[in-house]
Amino acid sequence: MTGTVQGVGFRPFVYSLAARLGLSGFVGNDSEGVFAEVEGAPAAVEEFLAALERDAPPLARIDRVVSKIMQPNDGAGFTIAPSAPGAQRTALVSADSATCADCLAELGDPADRRYAYPFINCTNCGPRFTIVTDVPYDRPNTTMAGFAMCERCAAEYHDPADRRFHAQPVCCPACGPRLSLRAPDGGPLAAGDPLAAAAALLRGGRVLAVKGLGGYHLAVDARNEEAAAALRARKHREDKPFAVMAADLAAARRLCEVDEAAAGLLTSPRRPIVLMPRRPGTVAAAVAPGNRQLGVMLPYTPLHHLLLEAAAGPIVLTSGNISDEPIAYRDEDAFAQLRGIADAFLTHDRPIHIRTDDSVVRAWGGVAGSEPAGRGVAGSEPAGRGVAGSEPAERGRAMLIRRSRGHAPEPVIVRARFPRPVLACGAELKNTFCLAKDDRAFVSHHIGDLENAATLRSFTEGIEHFGRLFGIEPQVVAYDLHPEYLSTKYALDLDLDSCGVQHHHAHIAACLADNGHAGPVIGVAFDGTGYGTDGTLWGGEFLIADLAGFQRAGHLAPVPMPGGAAAIRQPWRMAAAYLRAAFPGGPPPGLDVVKRNARNWAAVTSLAGRGVNAPLSSSAGRLFDAVAALLSVRDTINYEGQAAVELEQLADPAETGTYRAAVSGQWPFRIQGADLVRAVSHALAEGTPAPVIAARFHSGIAALIEEGCVLARERHGLGTVALSGGVFQNLLVTERAAARLEARGFRVLMHSRVPCNDGGISLGQAVVAGARDRALRP
Ligand SMILES: [Zn+2]
Ligand SMILES: [Zn+2]
Repeated sequence: MTGTVQGVGFRPFVYSLAARLGLSGFVGNDSEGVFAEVEGAPAAVEEFLAALERDAPPLARIDRVVSKIMQPNDGAGFTIAPSAPGAQRTALVSADSATCADCLAELGDPADRRYAYPFINCTNCGPRFTIVTDVPYDRPNTTMAGFAMCERCAAEYHDPADRRFHAQPVCCPACGPRLSLRAPDGGPLAAGDPLAAAAALLRGGRVLAVKGLGGYHLAVDARNEEAAAALRARKHREDKPFAVMAADLAAARRLCEVDEAAAGLLTSPRRPIVLMPRRPGTVAAAVAPGNRQLGVMLPYTPLHHLLLEAAAGPIVLTSGNISDEPIAYRDEDAFAQLRGIADAFLTHDRPIHIRTDDSVVRAWGGVAGSEPAGRGVAGSEPAGRGVAGSEPAERGRAMLIRRSRGHAPEPVIVRARFPRPVLACGAELKNTFCLAKDDRAFVSHHIGDLENAATLRSFTEGIEHFGRLFGIEPQVVAYDLHPEYLSTKYALDLDLDSCGVQHHHAHIAACLADNGHAGPVIGVAFDGTGYGTDGTLWGGEFLIADLAGFQRAGHLAPVPMPGGAAAIRQPWRMAAAYLRAAFPGGPPPGLDVVKRNARNWAAVTSLAGRGVNAPLSSSAGRLFDAVAALLSVRDTINYEGQAAVELEQLADPAETGTYRAAVSGQWPFRIQGADLVRAVSHALAEGTPAPVIAARFHSGIAALIEEGCVLARERHGLGTVALSGGVFQNLLVTERAAARLEARGFRVLMHSRVPCNDGGISLGQAVVAGARDRALRP
């Protein structure tokens, strides 16, 4: 058995399975995974093989089972064989996993020796990736190295029949980490129970820093208006929503409309933040200002369970960082950075080795059973089976917005092997990197926006750590074509064979890898921005693509971005540029966006007209920005994608009307996004309600995607479409586009293992580099 099969209770599982079936033989760990020999009645052996995959322990992710028939040797009994010495281990470190039901029961049992102990864990749950310092995955190579097991813990650790057999972080109040409550200067605060004192601070409206699994969070009582506002002010975070932790599913249902798919995600061992429609008036307005959605997660460590119980209500739990820096995870950094924000620190003495943010997902499709308990779609399926990922029956699953804690470092298994090990450096925003070797692509945890020294350090340290953990020394480095990205500069400084990958090609390649597909397909890559091969900014692209290459089949007609980067921060500038394109004779009178920005309107329109400091872009994201400004959703943004997020929320989901955009030119074709802006302007003038206009605009995007794909099919005869790029985080667009395409007979590939946004770029770069390498060295 290969995959994530060590340190997850696999040998005891095999041991008890063999015992139950009356089989003799042995099981052990070797360099690649777990091996076993079993002997007994044919039916029992058959059942053994079936149960291996079917009933595997919750944290195990089996990539492959290989079996062969051997001569019986009439052995008796079943044993766990000692690990083969000397062999270099390549078995995989598992992701961190939420506290299991058994541990939770012990946590709440006054008779248990780990009653109310905030670090309880077992083979089926607890910290993994965040505490591993090196391979092999043994206690000395974790941040638990400094804690010597007491006699009782050691007995459990060595007993194959025990739930804690070889659970590396096993500990108890007698021998394990301890909680403490500290003042911002690091001095001790509470003489009594730190947890009760911390909860009292929360109830009293104070800001608490809490050391979690992958870093420090900042917490306040989610219902306390003043506390939430204070946290927002101290963090200098204007609008970006805070996530909330609720005690359990019932508590989450009081905050949001939780459908079955969302409930499955909330309670999965990955425990992501799940974005859901919020119920009004249940949390303070400052938690998610102007947002109809709320990101909610359930407790995933024993500490969280205890804190939520003591706090007696939902709490804000947002990354402990200042402005754009990565989340603080070392104690000394956390105190230094968060001193001015937190009133107290609830911390402990188990070090975090690698920072890992919370994962963020949207549930969609509304069908139950998005993830079978404990087993993710991601990474666990052999290549090829994942092809079914876009079948309608499989909808009702997680759309990954940020893939991090609970997912990393699970690899994506790819269909075609990498001839040489690859490092892919990702893009800029929402950066991840990817290290790939053989048939495995290890997409990193979320690194963040690669725009400052602290994030760059996190990026380079992460690459070194992954290389060590998985024994990958890259020989090829893949990078984005944008010359100014820090990831590009880093890649080109390495003394490796380099492979530049166009941004939108990487998106489509990531979607192909995500679906175990090799192409060619019609790739629709819609996002905010990416460097094109012609030096302009792309982002509304129809590509004919396979893993190795692509050609541009069509795109949104380019529009100037007046002021360059300023046009990204100020969507009203895109409204000005698009109105100029839609109405060469001047926009219709009475548009609110013109009135609101009257002072600078003429100057900005003129910038667009002269093409001075106004780079051309075919970005779909900028078209969303223009319409958001036109509909008075917002003129300026405070976080990336804000205007589009709010435009989606404005749209009336019941409205079925559609605006149409014309297609012009020969090849590559051009779609006139300005037609949609003209339709929006006319509808505004006629007094059509904004939610109706927003919905028709979304349908218009879906319709132009359909039209572009039909054109591409007529010319190239391809019947499969891959949808990728940040625009497809928008459920209204994705669902409507997929429905239209399927109605026209297309097979539609979408993401499920990595995000459609730039967090998935590194996977795409890696598989492109692999494909080009295969072409060079057949
Ligand atoms: Zn457990
Ligand atoms: Zn102990």
